[in-house]
Amino acid sequence: MTGPIPFSANPLDRASNQRHDDAWVEAQLRAAGSRYLAFSQLNVLTSQHSAPELLWLDCTACDSLAAEAPRILLGLRDGVAHFAFDLPGTEDPASALGLDGAVFSEVRGLTPSLTPEDAGIVAQARALLDWHNRNRFCGACGSPTSIRKAGSSRKCDGCGAECFPRTDPVVIMVIMVVWRGDRCLLGRRAGRPAGSFSALAGFVDQGETIEEAVRREVLEEVGVVVDDVEYHASQPWPFPSSLMIGCFAHAAGDEAQIDDIELAEATWFTRDQVRTALASPSAFLTIPGPIAIAHHLLRDWSQASV
Ligand SMILES: [Zn+2]
Repeated sequence: MTGPIPFSANPLDRASNQRHDDAWVEAQLRAAGSRYLAFSQLNVLTSQHSAPELLWLDCTACDSLAAEAPRILLGLRDGVAHFAFDLPGTEDPASALGLDGAVFSEVRGLTPSLTPEDAGIVAQARALLDWHNRNRFCGACGSPTSIRKAGSSRKCDGCGAECFPRTDPVVIMVIMVVWRGDRCLLGRRAGRPAGSFSALAGFVDQGETIEEAVRREVLEEVGVVVDDVEYHASQPWPFPSSLMIGCFAHAAGDEAQIDDIELAEATWFTRDQVRTALASPSAFLTIPGPIAIAHHLLRDWSQASV
């Protein structure tokens, strides 16, 4: 896999200025060219005739399959509306479709086969559908909630409170030390195979900046003090709805003291060792594959003087 970081190339115009207009949304729902992407239990409908690819349905097919399922507007591409919907539970939804070669595919496994643009669309759709499924009742008063603005919010039928899809920020960082050997510190999670290392990561706490989250997580997990924090890249991660914020963290020291609940070990690696692992994973060092932002952070660190 080359090109953009997976899930980061969504081409859709989210139509923020139009989606509040119910008449406009209704016209898009009925437009002959509008496209519908079906999900079942957060797995996405694909065609498996040759290479797997997204199987978009038209309005008629969508109506016949799931007349009552809410349609969530993802956005516009070349003026064409793209919607997602969740099929109500059936034992074998692919067979129920009656579409030859149609399969509901698990998103993480499917992603390497998709174009970057399609992977970005699936990330948006999966995260949004999951949020709607989890927010059918008001967190304030417990009444049912209803979809608003073609799926960009929900409003409580009881107290009127409006809630919006949330994204959980996660910092993920390559910890670097230049002054003693130009190395980076990677961790191996408890339960992971020997040699399987990655960048450290953790959720941003409430009332915390990205830089503070990086410094806290690194101190908690490996006992290393971090000076400067450099933002590098980000990645939507729709499992269920995170934003991975990739950083380089400049360590003030290289004495690691690991939190042995979270980590089995933490080890410093040279750029050469990381480059070798990227080219040929081994029992000494295997790093996450290209679907993960950790792969891209480590590739960029190993290939350049970050
Ligand atoms: Zn309420």
